[in-house]
Amino acid sequence: MQRRKFLYSTLLTMAAIRTQGKATAFFSPAEWKITMLTDDLGIFTESGGTILFNLSQSGIIVVDSQFPASVPHLIEELKKKGMPFHLLVNTHHHGDHTSGNIVFKPLISRVIAHVNSLYNQEVVARRQNSLDKQYFPTETFSESTVVKTGDQQINLNYFGAAHTNGDAVIHFERENVAHVGDLVFNRRHPFVDRSAGANIKSWISVLQKICSHYDDDTTFVFGHAGEGYQVTGKKQDILAFEDYLSRVLDYVKGQIKAGNSLQEIIEKTTGIPGAAEWKGEGISRPLTAAYEELTTS
Ligand SMILES: [Zn+2]
Ligand SMILES: [Zn+2]
Repeated sequence: MQRRKFLYSTLLTMAAIRTQGKATAFFSPAEWKITMLTDDLGIFTESGGTILFNLSQSGIIVVDSQFPASVPHLIEELKKKGMPFHLLVNTHHHGDHTSGNIVFKPLISRVIAHVNSLYNQEVVARRQNSLDKQYFPTETFSESTVVKTGDQQINLNYFGAAHTNGDAVIHFERENVAHVGDLVFNRRHPFVDRSAGANIKSWISVLQKICSHYDDDTTFVFGHAGEGYQVTGKKQDILAFEDYLSRVLDYVKGQIKAGNSLQEIIEKTTGIPGAAEWKGEGISRPLTAAYEELTTS
């Protein structure tokens, strides 16, 4: 596997536009930005989960789609390349990764995700009465699958329940870049979606499997990062998040043993001991998920 320097270039036009409309409290409005990781792989950030895209004469591949209000900013830039669109992949079903799928419907006829991602997306859409706003995966996989297109090979892998029960890792073989979706919240308190099969204990082992599956040169793309941290990184960032999750479980286990209720734990906790880099809002989510996981048999 070739060793590539981690390049930041401005192959595509960089621009910044304030997002219109309301963003949820968890995903604050941001300016949009395109950052090229290699000559043909880039990331798009605005609101919601990081998008990874691959420029290719045989067809552009896009991983995740954010929201209908943000993804057109990326599509507009990609269209300037004069390449056809080929494939959309979803890392998992959450709205900040799939709501923009519908914008790709006239452009892309092939959408791939894990089988549980499709199931979860359907369940949520039915519950929210938003079936008409979805563009569902047209193909699914359960353990792993390989997509070959032009001179590119994409490996899709499922390592088990974690942030949901349908998180895929999408690895671009040639560039050795892998989008892990929300399997990694880089120095940011994570959302743990127990309603969609999330499990912190299993998440820890999924992160260990990822670290042994990919090599030390692999560049990882993360769904989200804390203030001042990157949405890309290396194996050590995955190990740091794994350590954080272990500490969350240990900490809450100790609190339960000491006789504290969930409410008391949330009220008194301002940080996870030993994980000082995880700051900011959202700490009640992992605390609640850990508490439920540890008290439900
Ligand atoms: Zn997300
Ligand atoms: Zn998510």
